Parts: sequence; structure tokens; C-alpha cells
Amino acid sequence: MAKINDNYLKLKAGYLFPEIGRRVREFSAANPTAKVIRLGIGDVTRPLAPAVLKAFHDAVDDLATTDHFAGYGPEQGYDWLINAIIEKSYKPRGVSLKTEEMFISDGSKCDCANILDIFALDNVVAIGDPVYPVYNDTNVMIGRTGEADDKGYYANVVYMPCNEANNFIPALPTQKVDIIYLCFPNNPTGTVASKAELKKWVDYANANDAVIFFDAAYEAFITNPDIPHSIYEIEGAKRCAIEFRSFSKTAGFTGVRCGLVVVPEEVMGTTATGERYSFNKLWLRRTTTKFNGASYPVQRAAAAVYSDEGWKQTREIIDYYMENARIIREGLTEAGVTIFGGVDAPYIWLKTPGNLTSWEFFDKLLNECNVVGTPGSGFGPSGEGYFRLSAFGHRENVIEAVERIKKNLK
Ligand SMILES: *Cc1c(COP(=O)(O)O)cnc(C)c1O
Repeated sequence: MAKINDNYLKLKAGYLFPEIGRRVREFSAANPTAKVIRLGIGDVTRPLAPAVLKAFHDAVDDLATTDHFAGYGPEQGYDWLINAIIEKSYKPRGVSLKTEEMFISDGSKCDCANILDIFALDNVVAIGDPVYPVYNDTNVMIGRTGEADDKGYYANVVYMPCNEANNFIPALPTQKVDIIYLCFPNNPTGTVASKAELKKWVDYANANDAVIFFDAAYEAFITNPDIPHSIYEIEGAKRCAIEFRSFSKTAGFTGVRCGLVVVPEEVMGTTATGERYSFNKLWLRRTTTKFNGASYPVQRAAAAVYSDEGWKQTREIIDYYMENARIIREGLTEAGVTIFGGVDAPYIWLKTPGNLTSWEFFDKLLNECNVVGTPGSGFGPSGEGYFRLSAFGHRENVIEAVERIKKNLK
């Protein structure tokens, strides 16, 4: 009989969002007239920018003609998209990249998971806590970890607690690690890292021959001009960092699907016999073998994000969400709640009032305000006592939710 990959059995059941759904359904069944407002989701709600949509439509029309029909494209993405991203998104921040260093994909979740293919299993990984669960679970699936303990920490993984005491930026590990996951602006905490803070990580990685996986899915939401958008703004990062970006939150592509990975040519690992080898070469080999490219109309739509019109319109959508974030931030502060994030990220991370657990506060908010958020403990043990609200809602709902919370907590 065929044997299964037993590593999958080590995974804890995906508990957070099903449990939220169950509690909301139960509440709504018991209170059919209550208008429940959802600020729990990590999904965008605004339609695509008009210039992006037009490019998308035009590209579909291309497929209807013999002259412009597009079949298989380059597995790693079209040059016209890669070069537009480099010119518009990296160059202005002082980062120069070669076309060959960027790979277009169908989204960042897959990239974060797939990148593990080109790293040996006996690398030691360091992961933040709380965290985007994909980093942890994909390491479990591929067989790098042992079993989970009662808290949900897996053996052979170095967890890096992020809390108020360290401003939600993990401390450098005390043991040697080979792969470090960093996500800034952070999901779920909405916090960011300064250049000086990222420099510590880059220096650590270069000193220890480690590789940083830098998830910049929310870089477009940064408002503070001093906060770096790319890890490559830090000197030395091109020797040690792989960067992930996504069109999902930046341009409303959660349903369209497009992302990218930057693997600079200088990022090196060692072979079993101790020679240095370029991860860029391995990633190209993997991509051309296991992937046939993001869809042509999607890449056309993505390129339109970098047109003058598309850029301006996309910014307006981001500004809309960040205005929501401001409304949540200021309203909750007025209500006496301690909050983090929400300035350079679409997430507000709050300390639960009255020392409630994350789930106790979830139930209070649902029952008394009819507002749904996300319990911080669902993102890892260090998230206990915290709660995430998302700014990806409709304005009138955000305003009403904040009014209800203010009235309740005052
Ligand atoms: C939403 C999100 C992504 C993007 O995922 P896609 O697969 O590109 O939609 C990546 N990382 C984090 C932390 C996210 O929250």
C-alpha cells in the first residue's frame, strides 16, 4: 500500500478560523436580528483599480486573436512585468536588481512554502511567535520538525516570541540558526522594523551564513518614510536575504493571484561537500521544472499596477484602508484600549482590556458589540491576551464597529 507523508499527521487541526466561524454562526442563529460586523478577515474588500481592470480585460482580448494570443510564457515571469517592478518599486528606494533575480508567481503563500524545496532538511529555522501560520506548518509538512508540544511549539524549531517588551521585534537567537523568517510590516501585529533593527538581522545572517526569508506582503501600507519597504535597503542584505512580495493586499489580487520572490545571485548556501552554491540557480531550476508561470492576463494586470494611472489608483485604495486603520486606532485609544500597529500596516493589534484571554475578548466583542475580530492566541502562544482587528472593511462598517466598541468599553 502507498505510504503517506506522516509529517502531515503532526499538524494541529486548522482551528482558528473554523472556530471563529462556528461561534459567529451560533451567535447569529440565537440573535437573528443582530447586525454582525466582521473585522476579523485578512482579505481585501475593494474592487480592482480601473487601470488594472482595463489591462486585465485587454489581455483576455489578446487571447481571442491569432496575432496577440499568448501561450506558455517564461516560467519565471515576463520581463516586462519584472522590469516594471524593479524600476517602479525597488529603484526609487536605492535597490538595484537584475531581471534574473526576480521570479513572478501565483502568490506569496505558495512561494513561502515552495522555497523550502531548495534548502536541506537539517537547516535550523527560526520563526516568530505570533506568526503567519504558513511558515510553521510548511516546515512541519516537509519534515523539518518533531512533534508539537501542548502549547503548539514543534520540536527542532526555534521560536522567537514577539511582545510589548521587545516592541514585537524578535531578539536575535542565542543559538545558531540557518533560516530566519521575518515579516514586516507584520501580520498579525501590524508592527514594523526600522533600518537599524533590520541591520542587526542582516549582520547576524551574514556572520552566521544564515538566510533571511523576508515577507514584505504589506510593504505598500507603510506610511512612515523612514521605514524600509525592502530588506535590500539594508546594506549586506543581498548576500543573505530572499524577499517575498504579493499583489494580494497591495493591489487587491487575493482572488486574482500574483506574487513574486527576489533571490539575489549572491545568496549562497553550501553543498553536502562544503562548496558554495547559489540559491538563485536552484530556484530557477525549481521554478522552470515545477511551475509554468502565472497566467498571462494576470501578469498584464499586475504590470498595470506600475502604470502611472494604476499606481495612483492603487494608492487611493490603500489610503482608503489606512483611513479605516486610523479610525480604528483613534477610536480604540479613546476607549482606553492599548493598541499597536495600524500605522504602517492594515492590522491593529490590541491588548485585551481587563486581562481577558484572547477568546474571552472575542466572545465579549461578539456578544456585546456584535463585532468579529481575530483572537491573538490563534497566531501562537505569545499572541495570548492580544486581539487583531483588520482595516480591510467597508468604511461605514468600520465606523459603526468602532462606535459600538467605544460605547461598550467606556
Ligand atoms: C496575505 C499574506 C501573504 C500573501 O499571500 P498570497 O498567497 O500572495 O495571497 C503573504 N504573507 C502574509 C504574512 C500575508 O498575510
